[in-house]
Amino acid sequence: MIFADSTAAAIRALDRNQTLIIAPIAACEQHALHLPVFTDSILVAAVAERVERALADRTLLLPVFWLGASEHHLPFGGTLTVKVETLQTILVELLSPLAREGFSRFCILNGHGGNDDPFHVALRRLDAEYPGKLWTGSSYWNLAKEPLAALCDGPRKTVGHACEIETSLMLYLRPELVDRAAIADDPSTTPAQLADLFWARDFGRSTDHGAVGYPGFASAEKGRKMLAAIVDRITPIARELADLKLDPA
Ligand SMILES: [Zn+2]
Repeated sequence: MIFADSTAAAIRALDRNQTLIIAPIAACEQHALHLPVFTDSILVAAVAERVERALADRTLLLPVFWLGASEHHLPFGGTLTVKVETLQTILVELLSPLAREGFSRFCILNGHGGNDDPFHVALRRLDAEYPGKLWTGSSYWNLAKEPLAALCDGPRKTVGHACEIETSLMLYLRPELVDRAAIADDPSTTPAQLADLFWARDFGRSTDHGAVGYPGFASAEKGRKMLAAIVDRITPIARELADLKLDPA
């Protein structure tokens, strides 16, 4: 069920123990030279809507929370942001009323890398505050790692930024928003030996023109397959979260 389209009475009538709340979160930030700043929000909405459609009677899909933690994108402008600690608190407060109302199953579906740390901490805080409920979340690309890697033709097999995966998805979903003439690869400048290190560097210092990866390999047809693969992976996970036996608090 779609939260934004429903009456409060219809939401109150749901079985709160059996309904999975899906909370898509994203961002509005620079996406290199060729993609719109709302890319992350458009993409996570597309994934979340398709999962909701497949499991409409077991899910309650919240509106996309589009304001993300994107300070590291500010050097390129075109970016709206909140600080990581603010987002962490907002996410706790976004989901708390539903927990107080008695809903028990939550999954944050993330579409923006900068949100990773705040959403993880928010889920830990919510679990401490409301034990016995299911507090889960992931970035959509993490739940579909293998099929996405198999569909990538460029040297990078994971999501970067304005990369082969994000650009393919946008070419499929919103081709009119993609400036194809401006597509340019932005290979990593990180020395190979440091590739596994967490390095808090803004995009002005870590990229050439604000991308991470190889959008030159993107295509709409690949985007269609990628979206289907992501939804195919996440739908059974959401079903399992809706069915999972909950631990007593
Ligand atoms: Zn992003």
